[in-house]
Amino acid sequence: MRLIGIDLGGTAIKAGAVDERGEILERRSIPTGLQDGAAAVLDRMAGLARDLRAENSVGVGSPGLIDHAGGRVLECPNLKALENVPLRDELARRLGFDPKRVFLENDANAAAVGEGWLGAGRKHRDLLLVTLGTGVGGGLILNGELYAGPGGMAGEMGHVCIDPEGPWCGCGRQGCVEQYASATAARRRARELGLPAESPGDLEKLAATARARPGPERDLCAAIGRDLGRGLAMAVTLLDLRCFVVGGGFGAALDVLLAGVRAGIEERTYGRRVAAVQILPAELGADAGWIGAARLASR
Ligand SMILES: [Zn+2]
Repeated sequence: MRLIGIDLGGTAIKAGAVDERGEILERRSIPTGLQDGAAAVLDRMAGLARDLRAENSVGVGSPGLIDHAGGRVLECPNLKALENVPLRDELARRLGFDPKRVFLENDANAAAVGEGWLGAGRKHRDLLLVTLGTGVGGGLILNGELYAGPGGMAGEMGHVCIDPEGPWCGCGRQGCVEQYASATAARRRARELGLPAESPGDLEKLAATARARPGPERDLCAAIGRDLGRGLAMAVTLLDLRCFVVGGGFGAALDVLLAGVRAGIEERTYGRRVAAVQILPAELGADAGWIGAARLASR
């Protein structure tokens, strides 16, 4: 069986075909072109699905808060043009599919399904994917299945609070993990220390310096890791979770964050539970989202 997944992003639409054993058959990436409006973006998504020879079903991962019943994206700062558009039904209509065979899921949740199926979490029944990008995203797999919760918001590690007096977050609350461990936060923290942090490339340099020698870069990575670990500790305590997969652009620095992450977990859990916890780098990169979406469409 040929499974087709689409990962809708603010700048690019990635898509691909994978068979049911997990062999990647084809992949595509085209600019989203949000400026052309929702109808044009939907046309492009349908074009990709056709191009990949989708037969009767397709999965779509999208950023934002998903209304599963209505098949639409309710809130998404990066995809304003698509908010409240009946994405599932419109895509189904363009492809001539039954709307029940078009699966719309949050992109971090879809990526968690991808990593759990073919990536770093494939040996684990329970895992949390955490993505360190512009924000901090998350997706929770329990007993081998995506657990999104009735509102689709489960696994949102980015908005777990680690300090009620901490910096204000875009969600309107204070001290969320996202304000400490996202790529955006890492750059802010580097700037506060007088380290160069204007571009994502500067973060790569920061991680490389931290890797190479002791100094403020290494200390900062340890501090960021520790803050992330304090958030993950809550998942360890609440769910006895043993596997975390870390992805996203800044996730590439996991090796220099790792000691801090483990320290943060240890500090906030009891009974030496950190010893049983595995923290793994994501393996699928930019393919995780569409692969997970394709997997969801196979159900
Ligand atoms: Zn928040």
